[in-house]
Amino acid sequence: MPASSRRPLISGNWKMNLNHYDAIQLVQKLSYLVTKDDVERVDVSVHPPFTDIRTVQTALESDRIPFFLGAQNCHSDDAGAFTGEVSPAFLSKLNVRYVIVGHSERRQIFGETDEFVAAKVSAVLKHKMHPIVCVGETREQREAGSTLDVVAAQILGSLAGRESTQFLDLVVAYEPIWAIGTGLTATAADAQEVCAHIRGCVATTWGADAANSVRIQYGGSVKAGNVPELMAQADIDGALVGGASLDADEFARIVQFPSA
Ligand code: PEP
Repeated sequence: MPASSRRPLISGNWKMNLNHYDAIQLVQKLSYLVTKDDVERVDVSVHPPFTDIRTVQTALESDRIPFFLGAQNCHSDDAGAFTGEVSPAFLSKLNVRYVIVGHSERRQIFGETDEFVAAKVSAVLKHKMHPIVCVGETREQREAGSTLDVVAAQILGSLAGRESTQFLDLVVAYEPIWAIGTGLTATAADAQEVCAHIRGCVATTWGADAANSVRIQYGGSVKAGNVPELMAQADIDGALVGGASLDADEFARIVQFPSA
């Protein structure tokens, strides 16, 4: 079991994979593998591509599958002339519960800044959804010894404007960029060091209650084999899983992580 009293959250980020037919198959297979007992101890969210969300919503609700619906991104405005963007207001109408914000692929490929990420976090919270705010360093930053500074700056920038009371609704995902999709995972000790630092930054700026309530996930090549040790760390409350979330058997084993 996780070392903390915060409720674990295991999230599957499907990225730009699986059309809406494939999505139904994955969700249905997962629903057979993940038991009622599992979801009693762990929150599970699935984050399909936007084109699948309505289909997955219908599958979850009609079959009473107890996974939370997630999105991978949204815009900061509710509506307007933003061709190709997705409104947080519309996501909330689809009963989306968790929205990944500031994923490193958004930051690196699409140039999203901490300022834009902070505006999205506000929008997600305004619509009573929960942002999963991603932070993490590049390989060069880690090798230069600046990981903790980089992550602290991202936390302060991406969570600018937050009230202390909002941290109950917030999730932070620490995702070292060099570990995403590479098969390389931070050691449990390294991941714990950064997650503890993130909690410390939250405590310094927003107070002890905020720090104790915010859930912090680790992401970066999480698999069934490494999740127990990661989840045994005091400041790791869950996992954001990319590649392995596309495989129902593997993702179910991650959700069912045994004690380390
Ligand atoms: C991610 O997409 O957030 C991620 C952590 O991917 P992977 O698990 O494939 O490294």
